[in-house]
Amino acid sequence: MNPAQILMTAGLCLIAVAPAKADLRVASLSTITTDLAYQVGRGHMTIDAIIKPGIDPHEFEPTPSDVKKVADANLVLLTGKGMEGYLSKLEEAAGGSGKFLNVGKTIPSLTMTEDGKRMEDPHWWHSVENMKTATRVVAEAFENADPLNAPSYEKNASTYLASLDDLERWIRLQVAALPHDKRKLVTSHDALQYFAHDYGFTIYPVKGVTTAEDPSSQHVKEIIGVIKNQGVKAVFFESIENPRAVQQISDETGTKTGGTLYSDGLGDHEGNTYDSMMRHNVSFIVEGLK
Ligand SMILES: [Zn+2]
Repeated sequence: MNPAQILMTAGLCLIAVAPAKADLRVASLSTITTDLAYQVGRGHMTIDAIIKPGIDPHEFEPTPSDVKKVADANLVLLTGKGMEGYLSKLEEAAGGSGKFLNVGKTIPSLTMTEDGKRMEDPHWWHSVENMKTATRVVAEAFENADPLNAPSYEKNASTYLASLDDLERWIRLQVAALPHDKRKLVTSHDALQYFAHDYGFTIYPVKGVTTAEDPSSQHVKEIIGVIKNQGVKAVFFESIENPRAVQQISDETGTKTGGTLYSDGLGDHEGNTYDSMMRHNVSFIVEGLK
């Protein structure tokens, strides 16, 4: 037996006698945190995606089988800022709030007014800077929950942070091609405030922060006025939203539709990672508004 073979045999013996250690079980209440968990934790955990692509997180209610997955998890990731209206009920049903990691909590909030009430805007991931903060928060939580694999989480997080830097540079380069007076975004609901804040856009949402209510005809008239007065070149659908109101505005103004944006979460095929979602949105926005 050569030395390498001896080492290999010794290694295999060690694995054989070590007590079986279960992987970390992570449940995720957003497609955004599911991708983040995969990027940072890959190889060391089982990830239960409770909210899958195409599900509206504003309207979601956990089923009994979701509650079981959450109860079985070591760590539960959520985006926070009021997105999970069912949270306190779920915490209670799944045995307490201790293992819930509110990833959005340390991220500074933009606010919005809806029905006269001031509220936090929950769509923080449309800022890459915020996604970088979220990456650090998730990596630290994984390291604390599973110290044995901490070096791996640290390495994955720094690789991912570097890719987010690349993404940010790419977005700034794309947006730079769009003159400031063309950075006007008409979207289905008020989800792109963090994006607008970082990249110098003004947004004119057809609906408010949640996706529940139809817009008033008065509000639709106002949006039509904005499009006509400001020469807005395109209006956008959203993947999870009913296209009716935006289609009506497009028809009435003769403005083209600039495609479908991912606002409340990732897509199924295209836009199925955070990186590809952002690249998809930015490409459509810049191309549509040129
Ligand atoms: Zn939304």
